[in-house]
Amino acid sequence: MKNVCPIPCASTGAAVKIEAGDSQLNAQWARVRGRLRAECGDAAFRSWLKPLVLVGHRDPEVRLAVPTRFMRDWVDTHYGDRLRALWAEERPSVRTVAVVVDSGRPQAAAPEGGATQPEGERPRAAFVVVIDPGHGGDDAGAVGPSGLSEKDVTLDIARRLKARILAEMDAEVILTRDTDATVPLDDRTAIANHQRADLFVCIHANASRRGNARGAETYFLSYQATDDESRAIAAIENNTLGLEEGVQKDGNLEMILWDLAQSAFLKESSVLAEIVQENLNDALDIANRGIKQAPFRVLMGATMPAILIEVAFITNPEEERRLRDAAFKDRLGSAIFESIRRFHEKYVQARAR
Ligand SMILES: [Zn+2]
Repeated sequence: MKNVCPIPCASTGAAVKIEAGDSQLNAQWARVRGRLRAECGDAAFRSWLKPLVLVGHRDPEVRLAVPTRFMRDWVDTHYGDRLRALWAEERPSVRTVAVVVDSGRPQAAAPEGGATQPEGERPRAAFVVVIDPGHGGDDAGAVGPSGLSEKDVTLDIARRLKARILAEMDAEVILTRDTDATVPLDDRTAIANHQRADLFVCIHANASRRGNARGAETYFLSYQATDDESRAIAAIENNTLGLEEGVQKDGNLEMILWDLAQSAFLKESSVLAEIVQENLNDALDIANRGIKQAPFRVLMGATMPAILIEVAFITNPEEERRLRDAAFKDRLGSAIFESIRRFHEKYVQARAR
């Protein structure tokens, strides 16, 4: 893979256009991503764009933020004279710099100095959680012996979890999908990064060829899987719609960048995973399968603590039956909620002090 950044290539041709007067950064960001992806190709998009966050725009500029800890040098090296301004943004766990990129419109005077504030940014809630209900749309995920689809279970649990958080915490909660929609794995991570989430929680239901496999598993990111079974599960979850969205053989560079993004949060991710796993074990009286690590694509490039929970084995007839039961799903939601609250007390509040 060539060591190129998609932003300069996007800014040389017909480049990103953001409509004036559109205050919905989310919608803008979706358009910008689509445009950059189309212009730069999928591989470049995946490797460079995923960690970026759209923070604002002012023609002719598009303002993107990147985690400074690994991107600052890269930004200096790659943007050269296209780089118009950088600004630093403090948040408890990450410093981001904004990359100001030519949007292809007539040039305006470059901002003076390096400390420009982004425009059009809404105030951020004190605590932001992005919940990712696995699969959706054309991708049903795993299907149980009696026909229950993973995509329906994950959305149901995500909604219950969201309701609990909103009812009991001063927080903002965003679902990567709130309908039965197809959302690519990279977009899910991009949504969490764009929202500058404090936590990214992916919800799935497990599958195994062994019909008697049971229990919850909580994962955080690693290139190396904990064991063969974890590797197999990551391969299944990465391969949505048969698109082989998993780890590419020639994707070392993108892997390194993504790893650098999430590696800053591995300790907190592992702590969160541990708390979730404990609470699931306590609440559900199900077999403890422990916390594990595997190369889940959706966790790569996340610039916040990020975990993936396999709540139960939908392929196990008994657990599939439980996953149809509203009370059981409430208990799952409660266990994850209590974990998030504990993590918030332990880390987020502590950071703010
Ligand atoms: Zn899944």
